[in-house]
Amino acid sequence: MVSSVISFSVLIFGVAFFVGYYVVTIIKEGAERRRLALFAERDPNPVLRLSATGEVRYANPATEKLLGQFRISFVQQILPADLQFHLTVARTTVNTQFEYTSGQHTLECTVSYLADFAEFHLYLKDASARKQAEARLAYQAFYDAATGLPNQYKLREDLSLAFGQQREGCALMIVADREQEILESYGAAETEKWLIRIAQRLGHELDGDTEKLYRFGSNAFVLLCLPCHDLQGRAAQLLSLAQQPIQVEDYKLFSTLSIGAMLIRHENMVESLVQQAASACNRVRRAGGNDFAIYDEAMSHAALKALQLAADLQHAVDNNELRLQYQPKVDTATGCLLGMEALVRWIHPVRGMISPVEFIPVAEETGLIIGIGRWVLREACRQNAQWQSTGLRPLRVAVNLSARQFRAGTLLNEIDTALTETGLSVDSLELEVTESMVMDDPEEVIKLLSKIHKRGIHLALDDFGTGHSSLAYLKRFPIDCVKIDRAFIKDTPGNTDDVAIAKTIIAMAQTLGLSTVAEGVETLEQLELMQEMGYDQIQGYYYSRPLPAEDFLNYYLAHS
Ligand code: C2E
Ligand code: CA
Ligand code: CA
Repeated sequence: MVSSVISFSVLIFGVAFFVGYYVVTIIKEGAERRRLALFAERDPNPVLRLSATGEVRYANPATEKLLGQFRISFVQQILPADLQFHLTVARTTVNTQFEYTSGQHTLECTVSYLADFAEFHLYLKDASARKQAEARLAYQAFYDAATGLPNQYKLREDLSLAFGQQREGCALMIVADREQEILESYGAAETEKWLIRIAQRLGHELDGDTEKLYRFGSNAFVLLCLPCHDLQGRAAQLLSLAQQPIQVEDYKLFSTLSIGAMLIRHENMVESLVQQAASACNRVRRAGGNDFAIYDEAMSHAALKALQLAADLQHAVDNNELRLQYQPKVDTATGCLLGMEALVRWIHPVRGMISPVEFIPVAEETGLIIGIGRWVLREACRQNAQWQSTGLRPLRVAVNLSARQFRAGTLLNEIDTALTETGLSVDSLELEVTESMVMDDPEEVIKLLSKIHKRGIHLALDDFGTGHSSLAYLKRFPIDCVKIDRAFIKDTPGNTDDVAIAKTIIAMAQTLGLSTVAEGVETLEQLELMQEMGYDQIQGYYYSRPLPAEDFLNYYLAHS
């Protein structure tokens, strides 16, 4: 009896306890829920409560504000698949994040699962501004702001894709020639406008299905053709596109293009493809631009060699590796020594003597010619003054100028410095310029040449006949002497065309009162022909090769 009373009380107590516990839990849960709701109500950030199956149970005022109509479509659109997926993930982790984008809007969503309430809390954040900024940055990273064209990074991306898809085609590196000159003459802003016009002109001509144009650098563009059926034809079209002048503000700018192409093959890599197209393009530029070349293996070796050469050349002046040789210039009629041309040589520590034919173009391209030219000018003046100071008969030394030196703006100053510091008299110096140098910007050149000439320094026009200018046009330039190019001498007297040219040149020079030099005379027949035609001076192997200073001194002494 006692035991049954006890067990009944225990039962009652147990039931009461469980009922009590349950009631307390429900009350606590309700309070917790209310507390959460209250927090959410005041939360400035949008919060949604979703049932275990993803229905919206509650959305706080901030959500309404952010989403408006969007709320319904947001939940409906990402349900069932996407949201369901994130909800499932959220059940097993603390919380999970994902982004939802619709049109211009992006929401950053964080979901957490409240197991006790079997519901999800979804926190939303408007990430539209951040997304747009990211997109802008991505655009800037892959597009050129001035032209709107995709840039070199986009090119690399597209090329990798093309390789991946095993697509066939070619890449054309297109460089607008004369950028430096246009920059120097018209300034940076006009140059950029000119480049934008070029981009537009190229862009107009694209075949939208197979071609895409990129801005690769300041004056460089790349045209990707996937596929490319007629590379030569396409390059020719592009070259002719550049024929029309480009109007920038009040100026008509004339320019040409240099184009280098490389075939896209599966064995090449993005980097080497671009490099090879660039190296083909550089070859065109070195040869004067306005042309097209396809890359070949030999070129790559040549380019590497040129690169190494350029690096070594940096130190040539400082390391005292340059030397001058002197080639006699002789009176045609009497055989008497009249002067000498200073010709630079490079004594490379490993390769030995390197011809100027090899390193002068590299020096021109890298700008090292400025320092080299300054050294040559000074050394030629110094050596000549030194010879004269020993009592030798004064001779005139001829120094070659390069196009770049000519445009640098410091030339006149350098000439004056070289003469004053070495004490050489002005009439013992002659400067040789080429036809292409004076044709570049005739008005400026005339001004500069006149200043040099007024000082009493002789001026010679070198390599005459290879350009396209008429001698009558050259009357405007204050020159004293014309050197007919060796090309017209070397095959005489056999080649009658060359003989005719040599005759025409001397006739014209004489009517203009210019003296004449025949360069590259190697044989007695040639010497006699030049004598017959009346060339004033002879320079060539027939008399002497260019000689190191010590050897020239012997020649000098023997002919004084
Ligand atoms: P260039 O000014 O036309 O110089 C004449 C070149 O013809 C020299 O070659 C000379 O050695 C060569 N030559 C002279 N007579 C004969 C001949 O009878 N037969 C043959 N086969 N060749 C003859 P080099 O010294 O190799 O110079 C080549 C070019 O390098 C020069 O052509 C000039 O354009 C450039 N150069 C040389 N020194 C300088 C320099 O100090 N400054 C600049 N800017 N250029 C230079
Ligand atoms: Ca010369
Ligand atoms: Ca010459």
